[in-house]
Amino acid sequence: MLNMPKLIDPFGRRISYLRVSVTDRCDFRCVYCMSEQMTFLPKPDLLSFEELDRLCSAFIRRGVDKLRLTGGEPLVRKGIITLIRSLGRHLADGALKDLTLTTNGSQLARFADDLFAAGLRRINVSLDSLDAAKFQSITRWGKLEQVLCGIAAAKSAGLAIKINMVALKGVNEHEIADMLSWCGREGHDLTLIETMPLGMIEGDRADQYLPLSLVRQRLQEQFTLVESAYETGGPARYVQVRETGNKLGFITPLTHNFCESCNRVRLTCTGTLYMCLGQEDAADLRAPLRASANDQLLDTAIDNAMLRKPRGHDFIIAREAAPAVQRHMSVTGG
Ligand code: SAM
Ligand code: SF4
Repeated sequence: MLNMPKLIDPFGRRISYLRVSVTDRCDFRCVYCMSEQMTFLPKPDLLSFEELDRLCSAFIRRGVDKLRLTGGEPLVRKGIITLIRSLGRHLADGALKDLTLTTNGSQLARFADDLFAAGLRRINVSLDSLDAAKFQSITRWGKLEQVLCGIAAAKSAGLAIKINMVALKGVNEHEIADMLSWCGREGHDLTLIETMPLGMIEGDRADQYLPLSLVRQRLQEQFTLVESAYETGGPARYVQVRETGNKLGFITPLTHNFCESCNRVRLTCTGTLYMCLGQEDAADLRAPLRASANDQLLDTAIDNAMLRKPRGHDFIIAREAAPAVQRHMSVTGG
């Protein structure tokens, strides 16, 4: 196992980070992510937990040392804690440095202790507003109170929390400073995200798009943002906020192309591997996984997929333009 070659793409980037969407279903319908009437993947197409575990383990053998479970909402998949516990063994034996989760927080009160016990030490929670009515209008089906209880439970379980906030023009753009102060008081880091053109939604994304360069300018009127060398190998660029003591990240796929240091690939709950969030090309890993009990075919399929990793995405948000890719963020998990 130690001798298996690492995953390197045609541009010399080492792939060390796997994001797994364990379900495309969700108990929210965030306006920028989904349409209200969604068609989800047929349940029989889903990989079992044993199959997902086998797939993740194949990537870990090839040097993936960071794994994030996402969705859809990962915590609404029935029995998900079984998979998380099982993946925790790779933390225990040192193959995995980081096992984490991105969640909307709705089920966190139920699962926070289990997540900590499985070896998770930090999670990302999406929270776009601290105003209950606004929160509901953004998530359509979400309840702010439930998410805040979930975040509190995660904090008391010992999990470090990073809040993800999608900046939306005319919706939550004037709440960002308050969110930053709240995160400071609660001890959470905050990452702001530009809306990305993935999947059809009601309305025009050009109406939602708020460049983070403008947000940053506005925040600087109130806060001292100190450039930081902090790096996660991911797309976020971080600053330290002097007044609150926490970190603030910016994910700016539209105003700044972050692809040159890309270290990740994305697996869906049906075993499709997307080599880039912003491109349609994908490799089927379910067929080689199911074709034999040993992993030889799977390893070859993973190697072939790496050869197809593109240099970067082609996102643009133009008025009335079709989305850059047809699938929703909930399929690949962001
Ligand atoms: N349901 C979980 C959650 O909301 O955290 C995990 C999946 S969600 C697809 C992952 C992240 O993607 C969330 O932070 C969400 O706000 C973000 N997201 C979804 N659609 C997006 C879009 N079109 N542009 C930018 N971010 C998006
Ligand atoms: Fe669900 Fe997350 Fe998409 Fe919101 S962003 S609809 S919580 S998957």
